[in-house]
Amino acid sequence: MRIVAGVDLGGTAINYTLVNKDEQFLIEGLCEHPALTKQGPDVCLQQIEDGLAIAAKQAGVELEDIVTVGLDTPGPASSAGVLSARGSTNFMHEEWKGFDIRAGMAYKLGRPVTYLNDANAGALWGHFSIFGANSKATSISIVIGTGTGGGVILEGNVLKGRVGFGGELGHALVPYQTIARIEGIVPQCNCGRVGDLESLASLTAIERTLLPYFLKKYPGHKLGKESDLHHPDAFIVGGGVLEASAEFGKWFLDEIKKGMPTQREEQAGIPIYSMPNGDTAGARGAAIEALTMARQTGLI
Ligand SMILES: [Zn+2]
Repeated sequence: MRIVAGVDLGGTAINYTLVNKDEQFLIEGLCEHPALTKQGPDVCLQQIEDGLAIAAKQAGVELEDIVTVGLDTPGPASSAGVLSARGSTNFMHEEWKGFDIRAGMAYKLGRPVTYLNDANAGALWGHFSIFGANSKATSISIVIGTGTGGGVILEGNVLKGRVGFGGELGHALVPYQTIARIEGIVPQCNCGRVGDLESLASLTAIERTLLPYFLKKYPGHKLGKESDLHHPDAFIVGGGVLEASAEFGKWFLDEIKKGMPTQREEQAGIPIYSMPNGDTAGARGAAIEALTMARQTGLI
């Protein structure tokens, strides 16, 4: 049997999935291993290798059956998987700066490795699960969590962009003064911009900018007692804004639907989906990318 692994490397946990050539996923639900990213590349790559063996065992397959591995990580990183030389909140150790994590993992595991940023991997999974593997459809995904990521799948292929910035919708500037009509806020983003999408539409934006603004107007509101919006049970585990609660997710989707422009007929019929398998979407998308590569190179 020949299979492909998807490895979603987050700041604290590595999420694994395995898929066979018939596109059947061999792990239901979460399969996680601690990432230990703060201890640098050597320790973390060992964690990835150890966790892969555990994932194979959980799925009841041999480690040797895994022919390629798809990796995804948070950015910023190049489209080839070289992490930013300026560092990243998820990779705090000095040795991560400018580290070629795709090549490092290929060397460590002794297998070809494909690379996607985590938002693009999620977008690829969403696209695949809605349109299938052989569609020439085009989709745009937006992934709203701690930050705001996105992905554009153009006729079935991930738009990576030359410097790995393809589909990074979160840092596009938006005319927030006219859209939001909130007087006197200065929505500052981690990327240095003021008034980009992530600075207004992310969990970080709610906590840093929107809540402080609105709580002044509505003292005593119950949101003022939420000391930590990033409580794992509520927001981060399970992949962000749509999984906060079923009720909130539905409200959020409905608001997006209401906010879609309707003045042009061709835009009114665009369906809006929520991301399937939100907590494993990254690993699944990474696996799909690796499966495509395995097919193209005759490995599977
Ligand atoms: Zn930004």
